[in-house]
Amino acid sequence: MLIIGNGRLITRDENNTFLEDGAAALSGETIAAVGTTADLKKAYPDAEWIDARGGVIMPGLINAHEHIYSSFARGLSINGYNPKGFLDILDGMWWTIDRHLTLHQTYLSAMATYIDCIKNGVTTVFDHHASFGHITGSLFEIEKAAKELGVRTCLCYEISDRDGMDKSRESVMENVNFIQHAQEDTTDMIAAMMGMHAQFTISDETMDLCRELKPEGVGYHIHVAEGIEDLHACLRDHGKRIVDRLYDFDILGPKTLLGHCIYINEHEMDLIRDTDTMVVHNPESNMGNACGCPPTMALVHKGVLTGLGTDGYTHDMIESWKVANVLHKHHLCDPNAAWGEVPQMLFYNNPKIAGRYFKKPLGVLKEGAAADVIVMEYDPLTPMNAGNINGHLMFGTNGNNVVTTVCNGKVLMKDREVLVCDTAKVMADCRQAAKELADDING
Ligand SMILES: [Zn+2]
Repeated sequence: MLIIGNGRLITRDENNTFLEDGAAALSGETIAAVGTTADLKKAYPDAEWIDARGGVIMPGLINAHEHIYSSFARGLSINGYNPKGFLDILDGMWWTIDRHLTLHQTYLSAMATYIDCIKNGVTTVFDHHASFGHITGSLFEIEKAAKELGVRTCLCYEISDRDGMDKSRESVMENVNFIQHAQEDTTDMIAAMMGMHAQFTISDETMDLCRELKPEGVGYHIHVAEGIEDLHACLRDHGKRIVDRLYDFDILGPKTLLGHCIYINEHEMDLIRDTDTMVVHNPESNMGNACGCPPTMALVHKGVLTGLGTDGYTHDMIESWKVANVLHKHHLCDPNAAWGEVPQMLFYNNPKIAGRYFKKPLGVLKEGAAADVIVMEYDPLTPMNAGNINGHLMFGTNGNNVVTTVCNGKVLMKDREVLVCDTAKVMADCRQAAKELADDING
C-alpha cells in the first residue's frame, strides 16, 4: 500500500470531489481509497508515504495524439528546407525524418518522448508512428521503451502509399502484427490501433487491404482534413468529401480516432457524431503549421467525443490546454469560448477515449481506478475549491509543476527524480543518435 497525501486532491469523479487535505491510497495497480489524509493514514497505518506538501494530487494525464518519431526534429536544420505550405512541411521535414530513422533511433525517440511525458505527468499516450526506412518491428521498439519506463500506451503505424505500394503493404502488416501482439498482452498497459496517415496518401486499394486485414476489436487512428489540400485531393480523386470516403470504407465507428478535422462541414460532423467516432484536437500544431482552426467547439457542442492531443509539438498537456483556450476565443471572437469545453476534453473525454482501449478506469481518482496519480507543486494565491480548480490549474501551472508521477501503481518519478532509467545516459544516447540522423539526412 502506498498513500500519496497532504495535498489538494482533485478526483475528477462524477461529483467533482475536491479535498483540501486529501490523499489517495494505492494498492498494487489500482486505487484502494481516496479520502482525507488523516482518515487514510488511520486506515492504512503501515502504508508507504509520499508527501504532496500541500500541492495538487490528481489523476495522471492522457495524451490522445502524439508523434514519438518527431523527437529528433528538435534543433534540426535540413538543407534546403523552406516550406511554403503544409505539404512542404510534411515532405520536407516529417517524411524526411521518418524515411531516415533506424529502429534504434525509433527506440531512443520513444525513450526521450516517454521520459518527457513522465516529467509532464502524462501516464497514457496514444502515439501515431512513421519510419518508412525501417517499418517492420518499429512499433515493437516503441513498446520496449514504454515497458521499460512504465508508461501506458496505445500504438499504431501510419499506413501510407507515399513511398510506394510495397512499403504501404509492409506498414499494414506492422499494424496487424502489433495489434495481434497487443491483444495477447494482459497488463492493460499496451493497446494498438490501425494507423493511417491521411486519406490523400492512401489509395482505394490500400483502404480495402486495411479493411480486409484489420483484426476485430480495434479501430483506426488517422489524420483527417488537417490541411485544405487533403480535402481538395479527396474531391478531385474520389468526388466526395473526406469523412464520406472514410464512411464508405467502414473506417468510422466508436473505436476510431480522427486527428484534427479542420476542413469538415456540418454534414461530416453529423456523420462523425452518428457513428460515435472520436476526434482529437491538437491546437498548437494546427497553429504552428498554419493549417487553420478546427470547429472543435461545434464538435463538442454536437456531442462528438472530442479529446486533446499535442501532435508531437509538446508533451505538456496543460500547455496544449492553454493554447486551445486562447485559440478558440481568438478564432470565434468570443471571450467566453472554450472555458468549459477544453478542460472537459482533457479531463473527461480523454479518459473516455482511453477507456475504449484500456480496461481499468483512467483519469479519475476513485476506488478501483488505475493507480495513475501525479503530484504538482502548487501553492494557490487565491482560495481554491471544487468550482475553480480548472482556473487554478490553467493559469497557475504547467507541466513543469509536476514533481511526482505514478503509473499503474509504480512510482516513475519522485520529487522530480526519474526513477525508472538513467536519464543522463538516455539523453546522451539520444544526442548521438540525433547527430547521426541529421548527418544522414543532410549527407
Ligand atoms: Zn499527427
